[in-house]
Amino acid sequence: MSPHVLILGGTTEARLLAAELSARSGVRVTTSLAGRVARPGAQAGDVRIGGFGGAEGLAGWLREQRVDAVVDATHPFAARITANAALAATATGLPLVVVRRPGWQPVPGDRWHTVASLSAAADALPGLGRRVLLTTGRLGLAAFAHLTDLHFVVRSVEPPEPPMPPDLDVVLARGPFTLADERALLREHRVDVLVTKDSGSEATSAKLTAARELGLPVVVVRRPPLPPGVTAVTDLADVPERLGLTPPPSSS
Ligand code: NAP
Repeated sequence: MSPHVLILGGTTEARLLAAELSARSGVRVTTSLAGRVARPGAQAGDVRIGGFGGAEGLAGWLREQRVDAVVDATHPFAARITANAALAATATGLPLVVVRRPGWQPVPGDRWHTVASLSAAADALPGLGRRVLLTTGRLGLAAFAHLTDLHFVVRSVEPPEPPMPPDLDVVLARGPFTLADERALLREHRVDVLVTKDSGSEATSAKLTAARELGLPVVVVRRPPLPPGVTAVTDLADVPERLGLTPPPSSS
């Protein structure tokens, strides 16, 4: 039998997994993207774009498309689709593997203020600085829109839309970012506080090093919890075995 694996994507991990699993003979891979980015990068296997219509819609799609297993490789902050994947897997009886890159850990010299949400980050900001580098994504700007006395620098892949803070410079860029990039950005915009989600990717961790070097406070938004009873693997290499796929034949 040729297993059909649905990867819930939108991350580097999902792209790597699609390439890894598609390379196995007989495995059919479909990656699902939410459709937030106008031009997503190329990836192996089939791609479908757009929401499913909640957990029920996803369960229906899994049945229709004769999916055999689901891999949730979405971003650690994409909590709704992760909850929907858990419900749909239960409803259909399909195996679900959740992949989460490890979170970041503070090291000596870091001045982190860990908070539970974007709105808690907004509450913390006025006491910490006046020129804010916001790297939490363009869709979360509404939480900061009332902070009219602070200057914001927002970095995102696509232009942000209101509601957003009035005093705002937009830097359009797609990671990964080097330490030199991050030092230059912080200096050029005279940033005195950084806000980030605990995304936990090396591709975007250089900003934490640059902030440490400059002695800047960093507001770190904690990850939302996984749904009850769901555990995640952190190593992509563990996914094929969790899916019950046999190792590819050795090339030696
Ligand atoms: P979310 O809040 O968890 O999901 C909201 C809705 O978007 C879901 O209910 C679902 O709609 C749809 N959706 C989300 N991911 C989908 C996927 N991979 N395929 C099909 N539909 C999807 O998600 P989000 O935080 O807006 O993130 C959207 C996507 O961007 C995710 O795929 C995530 O991996 C990626 N991403 C998110 C972040 C972040 O910081 N949140 C950062 C980088 C990349 P229906 O209920 O209609 O099915």
